[in-house]
Amino acid sequence: MAKKLTPMMEQYQKVKDQYPDAFLFYRLGDFYELFNDDAVKGAQLLELTLTSRSHSSKNPIPMCGVPHRAVENYVDILIDKGYKVAICEQMEDPKKAKGMVKRAVTRLVTPGTQMDLKGDQAQTNNYLSAIYINDQTFSLAYTDLSTGELKTTTFQSEATLINELINLQTREVVHLEKLPASLIDQLQKRNILISSQPEISKESEVSYLIQNLDDKNQKHVVAILVSYLLTTQKRSLAHLQIAQAYQPNSFMKIDHYSKTNLELMTNMRSGKRQGTLVWLLDETKTAMGSRLLKRWLDRPLINQEQIIERQDKVQVLLDNYFERKNLQEELIKVYDLERLAGRVAYGNVNGRDLIQLKTSLQQVPKIKYVLETMDSPVLDELVNKMDPLEDIANLIDQAIVDDPPISVTEGGVIKNHYNDQLDQYRDAMNNGKQWIADLQQKERETTGINNLKIGYNHVFGYYIEVTKVNLDKLPEGRYERKQTLTNAERFSTPELKEKEALILGAQEKSTSLEYDLFVEVREKVKAAIERLQTLASALSELDVLQSFAVVSEDYHFVRPQLNHDHQLMIKNGRHPVVEKFMGHQEYVPNDVKMGKDTDILLITGPNMSGKSTYMRQLALSAVMTQIGCFIPADKANMPIFDQIFTRIGAADDLVSGESTFMVEMMEANNALMHATPNSLILFDEIGRGTATYDGMALAQAIIEYVHNNVHAKTLFSTHYHELTSLDEQLHKLHNVHVGATEKNGELIFLHKVTSGPADKSYGIHVAKLAGMPQQLLTRANQILNQLEGQHGNDHVVGQNQQDNVVTTVNEKPSENTEKVNELPEEKNGQLELFPTDSQPQLSKKNAQLLKQIKDLNLMGMTPMDVMNKVYEWQQKLK
Ligand code: ADP
Repeated sequence: MAKKLTPMMEQYQKVKDQYPDAFLFYRLGDFYELFNDDAVKGAQLLELTLTSRSHSSKNPIPMCGVPHRAVENYVDILIDKGYKVAICEQMEDPKKAKGMVKRAVTRLVTPGTQMDLKGDQAQTNNYLSAIYINDQTFSLAYTDLSTGELKTTTFQSEATLINELINLQTREVVHLEKLPASLIDQLQKRNILISSQPEISKESEVSYLIQNLDDKNQKHVVAILVSYLLTTQKRSLAHLQIAQAYQPNSFMKIDHYSKTNLELMTNMRSGKRQGTLVWLLDETKTAMGSRLLKRWLDRPLINQEQIIERQDKVQVLLDNYFERKNLQEELIKVYDLERLAGRVAYGNVNGRDLIQLKTSLQQVPKIKYVLETMDSPVLDELVNKMDPLEDIANLIDQAIVDDPPISVTEGGVIKNHYNDQLDQYRDAMNNGKQWIADLQQKERETTGINNLKIGYNHVFGYYIEVTKVNLDKLPEGRYERKQTLTNAERFSTPELKEKEALILGAQEKSTSLEYDLFVEVREKVKAAIERLQTLASALSELDVLQSFAVVSEDYHFVRPQLNHDHQLMIKNGRHPVVEKFMGHQEYVPNDVKMGKDTDILLITGPNMSGKSTYMRQLALSAVMTQIGCFIPADKANMPIFDQIFTRIGAADDLVSGESTFMVEMMEANNALMHATPNSLILFDEIGRGTATYDGMALAQAIIEYVHNNVHAKTLFSTHYHELTSLDEQLHKLHNVHVGATEKNGELIFLHKVTSGPADKSYGIHVAKLAGMPQQLLTRANQILNQLEGQHGNDHVVGQNQQDNVVTTVNEKPSENTEKVNELPEEKNGQLELFPTDSQPQLSKKNAQLLKQIKDLNLMGMTPMDVMNKVYEWQQKLK
């Protein structure tokens, strides 16, 4: 038998049925209550006490509640954990309601639509995305509800779509049509909430916002997104900007693995901002600027003119130190106009927000003035976009008091002399108060009670208070008793009552009129939202550009030249973040020279010598160049890269649960498949994650493939010394190495990159420094020689091993070093690892295998093919 619900629970259930996937916060007086499953789960997540309603009955209803004043904190906690919250309000005053108080959901808060972002989140965009897949095209729309940005694009594969979703750090994805299981799986793995939107809204907002789009898939996906917003937000979306389509191809592409590897936005170890490129570059003074910097970093430019335009502006700001300082001082006073505009549209601004808006607008003429004094045509466009919205600034200035209260409904927001009617109410109130002061004086005189006073409280209104000792002085009749206190009695008189009605009436009318006037001002501001957004975008741009100028000056960056003919030259380049940590003096600058005739630099050198720092510094310089910033070097000429691929360090993709070596191969494959001659590839120790020859075979095959088929600028670091002789075959490959030296028996890294390969017996040398027994070292050297002698031909290396450039160079080699290098090649027992001449002839099977290796057409194979082949051989050898 179905349980009989109380009328209230019936109402609750009706609302809950409409929001099955959200926590329903149901307003009951001063609390929001959660019931049933919501209560059980909510109590756990929010650490609330779980109680129950109608506990005496057989089926008590689990329940927990949060005070209405603290509701936002609790909502934030649930949203951060990836849930949705529906806020159900009382729609009428419970005191005046007949029967059940009307209630309705006024807001559905979801991870992607959360607006009140505090602290660090102010510097980050919170994106909500929608997806539509049709005919092998993957359309995406995304918006930041707090700023109104609305963009759309189309991808050709699921992988590129996912990559973009990860880049955007989107927390919620909306869809209408069914999504493929593979995509759902990927989204769930990354804790992205998937919300379905049942239909496209017929509201005019939808057609308005998609008006500039040509592509029908893009129109559809934006319509899904906007419909979802209309369903969940139930309020004005006036600040949403008309959707803009963008081409992923018009920006430098860096997949999310590489972004993570390069630590552009997040530190790989701590997951924080410190130690990242954005942390270094961010000298912005506004939250809008900080967000724009991230967007620029996310999408470096590939259009030379646009890069030069930014560089020109940075140059002007760099050259004008004092003006730049002035600009910074003004920018600090500019509040988050983008988000203020959003709140104006939503109708949740208060007086303080409007004062922030006014203060911000008042800086604009000063900022324009400073820009004009720099007298540079490159700044014209920026100056022209800066409309100071004087009408709005003046309106707020005339209407809103300088220090308004938080509440907009309790008065005290509107200035005197802004509205005649309001002034009259205020006069009435003030006159009334004067009248009361006079009355007090009069009553004291007539009664002779000197401490008689007239006061006011919310419950009893105005009263005359007489202490008990003086009560007998009060004449009979006129005084009506209102309240008794321990030491005093409070009274009223007919004339006091009459005045009280007048004063309180005026007060009520004045408060309500103030609210109306406030709404009127807010609506006028709302009408200016588009102008406000244009201004916000100009100010954010200026803020980022001045930030570039600041860091360029502070860290001695230089303006790179740009070229389209595959030339790359960096003189004394540095890794900006490592340099910041260790200091300018300590950091050893390095050149990178890759002319038309060099596609690949093969970097050898000991561990910890600085190979990966060298590679990263090049990638960071490329990104910095293409966002328009200057770069850490003395001089530079950079090609414009269309993409950057990296395989650096062991960045296991823990989220998707892939193994290190598999990730390594996938990342490498991604680069090989998609890189063009205009791309930059960084491969750090590729092949390290598998058996030596397996790994070395792959590494060599990959280098050859890049050299012969891809032609991208590539830095390849390796500990396979054998690969260094590849330069004999591959004419666009050059060897460089990072040097180390020995001082007083200690190994010192020079961190200096120079031409040529590293010393082959480097490891043995270090073992010697570590104090290993001479006998062991002798044996190691012997094995090394044997290995080289016998297996050099299996790889490219061998006979022509270049030993002329030695990493462990000493001007005067130490005695011990000499010894290590001069070990006699005595035969000291059989080497078991590999067959020698004295061993029996190769078996037939092995001879076949060797022939297969010899005949293999490496150039016709992908790295994966090579891997499979090597695996097949391994199996045969077992
Ligand atoms: P590798 O890739 O060769 O193992 P890394 O690039 O990780 O070496 O560098 C190891 C450490 O050496 C870095 O953490 C840094 O402290 C230091 N280092 C690297 N390059 C330089 C440099 N050019 N100048 C000064 N110190 C450097």
